[in-house]
Amino acid sequence: MKDFSKNNFIYNIINNDIIKNKYKIIHTRFSPEPNGYLHIGHIKSIYLNFSIAVNYNGKFNIRFDDTNPDHEKLKFINSIINDIKWLGCFNYEKVFYASNYFSQMYDYAIELINKNLAYVDLLSKEEIKIYRGTLTTPGTNSPYRNQSKRDNLILFKEMRHGKFNQGAACLRAKIDMKSPCLVMRDPVLYRIKYIHHHKTNNDWCIYPTYDFAHCISDAIEGITHSLCTSEFTENRKLYNWILKNISINHYPKQYEFAPLNLSYHVLSKRKLKILVNKKIVNGWDDPRMPTIAGLRRRGYTANSLIEFCKRVGVTKQNSLINTKLLEYCINKELNINAPRIMAVINPVLLIINSLPKNYCMYISVPNHPNNPSMGKKNIILTREIYIDRADFNEFYTKDFKKLTLFKKVKLRYSYVIKAYKVLKKNNKISAIFCNHEQYKTNKNFKNEISIIHWVSKKYSLPAEFRLYENLFNLANVENKVNFISYINKNSLTVKYGFVEKNVKTNLNNTFQFEREGYFCLDKKYSGKLPIIFNRITNIKYNYKKANIKKLN
Ligand code: ATP
Ligand code: MG
Repeated sequence: MKDFSKNNFIYNIINNDIIKNKYKIIHTRFSPEPNGYLHIGHIKSIYLNFSIAVNYNGKFNIRFDDTNPDHEKLKFINSIINDIKWLGCFNYEKVFYASNYFSQMYDYAIELINKNLAYVDLLSKEEIKIYRGTLTTPGTNSPYRNQSKRDNLILFKEMRHGKFNQGAACLRAKIDMKSPCLVMRDPVLYRIKYIHHHKTNNDWCIYPTYDFAHCISDAIEGITHSLCTSEFTENRKLYNWILKNISINHYPKQYEFAPLNLSYHVLSKRKLKILVNKKIVNGWDDPRMPTIAGLRRRGYTANSLIEFCKRVGVTKQNSLINTKLLEYCINKELNINAPRIMAVINPVLLIINSLPKNYCMYISVPNHPNNPSMGKKNIILTREIYIDRADFNEFYTKDFKKLTLFKKVKLRYSYVIKAYKVLKKNNKISAIFCNHEQYKTNKNFKNEISIIHWVSKKYSLPAEFRLYENLFNLANVENKVNFISYINKNSLTVKYGFVEKNVKTNLNNTFQFEREGYFCLDKKYSGKLPIIFNRITNIKYNYKKANIKKLN
């Protein structure tokens, strides 16, 4: 497949830098805040940064932006490392932390105060907000802006030594309160937080803001191309301002690309956290979640997720990517790899009355119709089998092509049957009676008679099937403030049915349950019956409708 990931503006920039001999080594990083689990948008960012390092023989750092101890948790750090390893994008044994540079950052803050480029502000958070102004009105200088350098140094040191209450003081850059760019209106560089930090414990009670910490961390690590999503475009000015005004001799450059937006999903960690906390989903790894942990549990492979990112590409323009593209990437892979199994999701009993009571026929069938190397298996036909309710209609209608009373259908790999009677309990069909016709191996029934799948009542295993739909019922839901109101109440349907016993040969496989979709064992399955399966996707798509280019 053509590697679309190399054909983008970031690669053009790097190629130009290389021609101009700007850098000895290309160095990128992925820098998440450890306040939640990674999502599919992060894969786009990780893969972009990682593959640049691989393609240019450069370096790729994973750095935790752990500057806000409010939200950070060790479990998030561990899950992020685990997810990046699983993706195969972990080439460095070392993980970096912004908190490793807290001392240097503190010294740079002192340097800015000494250069009269930063001051301690005693306004409250709310006052700072009011003084900042708006997009249409300029900001107003804080009354503390012109304090002497000496006072600022004393106050900042007092902040550092816990002399102020949380929120009573902060350090701000002295830039321009009238700047058209809000980020440049004397941004906060340090705030007070009496919160334990997972790495520095209680050493600090002042913490740098993201803007202050990010550019300095990039510079310390020797990052050459600092790639981030377009919501940071304005922050680039501040990124450059800080680096220009501190004594550092390495100048990374920030470039922005459009974040991944996926239809019927929200991708920000903060929003995903709301879904978890409100118990709208069952944790970060709920198979409906677009987190890496959720997608993995749903049955997506690392390969299919990276292929998805390659196809999405990297641009500056925002766009909404169709979820069907994601499904297409996994289906394409599973169509080739997944062994076929018969499973009946919504079962009804079918009795082939013309067969003897203890009838038991072994039928040898391939594990995969197009791949003989995957071997063969035996399926067992008995007199009593289950078929799907959706494959039976008591009365004939023109459009219904499956089993109807007095009409014929072929059982997959087996007999043609004709139904003649139904048994009902409380108005619901509890059994269908039929007779079989002779087994005709040479005849191709495909065109004249429908084929339905089935499992033997005696030789099948009870199973729980979890069928998923998109979590939201609005395609462009990411930017809706009240995104919760667009939750799809049918995003999970649980069904109880039966699966062919052969599934036990290797339960860790991902399977195509014939005519039903691709399924995998739920990783939280306890080992008891029923076996729990997650549906990854349906089998077939209307690619035209999904507007997916078939790229190869
Ligand atoms: P939060 O909601 O907490 O800000 P986030 O989902 O934006 O979480 P960050 O930790 O802020 O995640 O982002 C880490 C890195 O991943 C950043 O470089 C960011 O630009 C990138 N990133 C975040 N979301 C996306 C996305 N949807 N597509 C591509 N890259 C993304
Ligand atoms: Mg973010």
